[in-house]
Amino acid sequence: MRSKEDYLNSLKDGRDVRYRGEKVESILDHPVLRVTALHASKLFSLSRGFFDEDLKQEVSRYYLVPQSSEHLMQRHKLIYETTMSCNGIFNISQAIGSDALFSLVLTSKKVDKNHNTNYSSRVTAYHNYAKKNDLTLAVAQTDVKGDRSKRPSEQADPDMYLRVLDVTDDGITVNGAKAHTTQGPVSDELIVLPTRAMTAEDKDYAISFAVPANSKGLKFIVRPIDELEGNSSSVLSTKDYECESLTIFDKVHVPWDRVFLFKEHEFAGTLALNFVTYHRFTALSYRSASSNLYLGATSLVSKANGTTKAPHIHNNLVNIVMYKELMRMSAIAAAHTPTLDEGIAIPNPLYTNIGKLYSNQNFARILEGLIDTAGGIIATMPSQEDMVNPLESEIITKYLAGATQGEERIRILKIAKELVGSSMAGYMMTLMIHAEGSMEASKLGIVRGYDGVSESEKLVEGIFEN
Ligand SMILES: Cc1cc2nc3c(=O)[nH]c(=O)nc-3n(C[C@H](O)[C@H](O)[C@H](O)COP(=O)(O)OP(=O)(O)OC[C@H]3O[C@@H](n4cnc5c(N)ncnc54)[C@H](O)[C@@H]3O)c2cc1C
Repeated sequence: MRSKEDYLNSLKDGRDVRYRGEKVESILDHPVLRVTALHASKLFSLSRGFFDEDLKQEVSRYYLVPQSSEHLMQRHKLIYETTMSCNGIFNISQAIGSDALFSLVLTSKKVDKNHNTNYSSRVTAYHNYAKKNDLTLAVAQTDVKGDRSKRPSEQADPDMYLRVLDVTDDGITVNGAKAHTTQGPVSDELIVLPTRAMTAEDKDYAISFAVPANSKGLKFIVRPIDELEGNSSSVLSTKDYECESLTIFDKVHVPWDRVFLFKEHEFAGTLALNFVTYHRFTALSYRSASSNLYLGATSLVSKANGTTKAPHIHNNLVNIVMYKELMRMSAIAAAHTPTLDEGIAIPNPLYTNIGKLYSNQNFARILEGLIDTAGGIIATMPSQEDMVNPLESEIITKYLAGATQGEERIRILKIAKELVGSSMAGYMMTLMIHAEGSMEASKLGIVRGYDGVSESEKLVEGIFEN
């Protein structure tokens, strides 16, 4: 398995990454991207190996295709523990790529049966390649989508969904863009998946493949990360942060052995859906760990303020405990009641989507609880420069004391401010609502195939007879 240094050195491969209008010449020397790469590299210091009987070597447990509840529970714990080792911040580097691979392993078997294709062997070869080389993989699924009321083939600009532009003997050329690609700029490779179900008219958009991050024509335009641009109040962000990019595919060539779906439009939806089920299970696992940031900060800030005995502060803590444990409970329920398909265990989609939707709808209450507990100081705190300035530091420390000494209260207030009163807070709020799919997508996942309504109707109808 790779070392942290192997991974970091592999980023020096000429990939095209842009930040605030400039080409990033060296990721490891860039003040912002360096932090996101170092965050990813933490994975390589963790114990995450298992012995792969087929490859006869130790590989990352992230790449173990789940075949049972036990495997899913192990995966839940792996993601929870990795997040905890990264200060409560998700480490996507092998999680999202393996979610995509599980869907590809499963769906390619179905496509092959229906179309007499050989995707399954290509996916197996790529899966083994990822395992052998201990790769970090980003997933580019979300298309930029243009006019949301129109299907891919109906868009005024044909590039609003990633599409096949050209086909040759040795592969395909693709064009378009994907939005919000987490850690794409610091991953070894990108797996591309369709974002939705497709019709026959959309077949040029029904594609899936994998490419190295330094492929010709591939460009990552990274979102700015304010916390890492000289914001002296940043603490957590300087240790662990992930980046996203608008990822441009400008006539990118993909050899056939890396193509996993090519115009078999009726399977685009299956591939997308299986991926999001695994990925939302991943979300429950990291979100239960990330909740500890808000729970820990709320508890510590109430101690610093001397409000631990107040009933409404107790209530704030209970809300966060509920949030954290509901994430964990839904992951455990989903792991213990999987669907088995082609010998592969898929987490129960109903429990997975219910947990994910609860997270989407209730994250704002978590922020509210921490803000309520901490007080207005979250918004009005003096700057770090004033706090370390000999002229002001003494007076600030004196007047910011609470039930604890000033220094101690300021320490926890700084973390609380970063969690709920910074640009990171806005990012986290958006992430908790949209990442791993919008709320509407989770609602569709709950309603789709739900068989509990007829039982309820029968109960109500039965009242007249019983
Ligand atoms: C921090 C973060 C990280 C992410 N990481 C990744 C990643 O690594 N890889 C990846 O592929 N994606 C990633 N995503 C994308 C994420 O899955 C999407 O943001 C999510 O699916 C919503 O899609 P969208 O952003 O295009 O918004 P939209 O789809 O535009 O949604 C906005 C609103 O419009 C509604 N809407 C959309 N279409 C219709 C329609 N036809 N009819 C009616 N209403 C509609 C939606 O329900 C929603 O209410 C990430 C997102 C975030 C915020």
